[in-house]
Amino acid sequence: MANLTTLLTTLISANHILHYNSVVDAYGHISIRNPEQTDQFIMSGNRAPALVSSHSDFVTYRISDASAVDPNAPQGYIERYIHSEMYKRYSSVQCVVHAHAPDILPYATSGVPLKPVYHLPGFLGTEVPVWDIETIYNATDIHDLLVRNVREGASLAQQFASPANQTAGTSSTPDRNVVLMRKHGFSTHGPDIQTAVFRAVFATVNARVQTDSTLLRNAFSNMAGRDIDVRVWGQSGMLLNNAFEPLTSQQAKAAEESNAGTVARPWGLWVAEVEANPLYKNNG
Ligand SMILES: [Zn+2]
Repeated sequence: MANLTTLLTTLISANHILHYNSVVDAYGHISIRNPEQTDQFIMSGNRAPALVSSHSDFVTYRISDASAVDPNAPQGYIERYIHSEMYKRYSSVQCVVHAHAPDILPYATSGVPLKPVYHLPGFLGTEVPVWDIETIYNATDIHDLLVRNVREGASLAQQFASPANQTAGTSSTPDRNVVLMRKHGFSTHGPDIQTAVFRAVFATVNARVQTDSTLLRNAFSNMAGRDIDVRVWGQSGMLLNNAFEPLTSQQAKAAEESNAGTVARPWGLWVAEVEANPLYKNNG
């Protein structure tokens, strides 16, 4: 990764881009692993991402327990354990995003699976797990759905491993790029800021497209005189099944690999968009 000063300036832009693209609102956060001290990570203190504006807005935390390195650090996000446990479990992860995007939330609440429905979100793969914090609560936990401690963060981080790898404890790279959090939101990660933001934005766009496609399809089934796609609707005009047709595993894998080489293009656009918007200040 680039040097720390450059990274922090990029991290300010990333906060703005996530807001501009409706991934975060007043809530949600993005962090990076400290490239100069890899057992630490850095994220904004307790403020809305759109309003992060300078390097002094960031707080450095220990990955071991998400405690602030500076004992006088300002108040941080409660859910920083989401970030610390991802860095602890997966050595290749350099950036983590957590948010409650309204476009994603239907898939964290309805039981309808989130699937990649076009090529750019191929990184979603064939299965996006839904982690339910309720299943790990003990008698003393606060049942507010927030990830409040190491145990809860570790349980979420575990879901980024495939079932075969979940007992391994640590590994280099997560098997999954996005995990939904039931009644709460989602988390994603990347080997750099740009990739993590790409995944957060396009997971959100995919959810919107999937929802629109599902609504359209169901409305269309009630329209008379339509030209039907018999692969989807059958000769009788009846839906062949109610499950959405996502990318195949082969399509998802190939699309993810192809798109990985193009992340700089949307990133350049997104930086220009937030720099042109007076809401966002980057004094980095
Ligand atoms: Zn949250």
